[in-house]
Amino acid sequence: MKVIKFGGSSLASGKQLEKVFQIVLSDPERKVVVVSAPGKRFSDDSKVTDLLIEVAELCLANKNPQIRLEEVIERYAAIAEELALPDRVMAEIYDDLMVRVASNKSKPDRFIDLLKASGEDNNAKLVAAYFREQGVEAYYVDPKEAGLLVSNEPGNAQVLLESYDRLFALSQHPGILIFPGFFGYSETGEVCTFSRSGSDITGSILSNALKADLYENFTDVDAVYSVNPTIVSQPREIKELTYREMRELSYAGFTVLHDEALVPAYKAGIPVQIKNTNNPNAPGTRIVNVRDNINGPVIGIASDQGFCSIYVSKYLMNREIGFGRKLLGILEDEGLSYEHTPSGIDDVSIILRENQLDVNMEAKIIKRIKTELHADEVKIEHSLALIMVVGEGMRQNVGTMAKASKALAKASVNIEMINQGSSEVSMMFGVKEVDEKRAVQALYEEFFMAVTA
Ligand code: ASP
Repeated sequence: MKVIKFGGSSLASGKQLEKVFQIVLSDPERKVVVVSAPGKRFSDDSKVTDLLIEVAELCLANKNPQIRLEEVIERYAAIAEELALPDRVMAEIYDDLMVRVASNKSKPDRFIDLLKASGEDNNAKLVAAYFREQGVEAYYVDPKEAGLLVSNEPGNAQVLLESYDRLFALSQHPGILIFPGFFGYSETGEVCTFSRSGSDITGSILSNALKADLYENFTDVDAVYSVNPTIVSQPREIKELTYREMRELSYAGFTVLHDEALVPAYKAGIPVQIKNTNNPNAPGTRIVNVRDNINGPVIGIASDQGFCSIYVSKYLMNREIGFGRKLLGILEDEGLSYEHTPSGIDDVSIILRENQLDVNMEAKIIKRIKTELHADEVKIEHSLALIMVVGEGMRQNVGTMAKASKALAKASVNIEMINQGSSEVSMMFGVKEVDEKRAVQALYEEFFMAVTA
């Protein structure tokens, strides 16, 4: 049995849905279909999810959401019309949206989630209706009834473990099941969405719960590329990579798969196959537990912007027991999550996502570290990019770091920091955002241009 997930661009129009239908029907093992909300039809188009967020924000600001709401309805209506679906399909979507818009707004983040989740929920109903119109036994599955329970964190939910046993019952269900991605329900029965692009997570949870043989994730590229194709043209496609490699790459900017989507599949040992809805015969990329290491030390290079570093130095920091705990305790107190902590003898840097700090928070943190920890120096550096050089092969190879830093030096990129995790699956370089492209190009050249496939 296979769980198959389609992203927003695969469901953006009636024509795309016809492809989806063919793909699902071409393999009888494709039993559970997870759908996103309709995405972009062309590059300047809007995603239904983004429109829904605007609708919610307008409602919360006591402004008229009519224009945006009509745009949402129009997106579904265009698909329904293209596929000649019966009128009741649109009537149901319309009624559902009206109820949501009129619902309680006293908790804004709950209200936003309720609207956001409608993107996939209504799309799943539409897709199920379309399959049925084609004479196929297909059912929309309500995540609440199916038992997809998540933590009570609007916009950032995590699956609760009891969901897995509950969802298993779906394996006894006849027909093809159309399951809306991106959201579940809290224990108190409220809609809670995962973080953006979270339908990937739903697919992975269902693969685990239903003990699928494969989790197929259909998107709009032929494969996972070894580097961002907007930075290096026509980069090498990755045929196979491990869960750990993919996790590292998606964490640092590979958007093909949500970075939290691998864990449920990984825990159950289910391989993940990335495929292209627009070119389903392309082999795609397979994500597995162990792979043949034939490509040299590095499999991919990812980079992401929007980080900052809090640099803290204090003479004899190395001898001060509890310094690290107290420092991180301040961040915990302020609700800040950190990414890395490269350190020296008397200094440590904490790397965080910059969007968590505003001017006030920044001043507060600096003050607290100075006064509570008596640090000699505290400064924040902004606009950093993190580059991850990833590959399981690094463990067996000597000199990968030397090669990488030589390549960066040749490209005149100043390395702000280096971090190599103890797993040795990746090396991280912090550089200024303005140097990011050049750095990635230099690293790609070093590790991929000279190596044969
Ligand atoms: N539609 C949601 C988003 O745009 C979730 C998804 O597509 O996976 O973030």
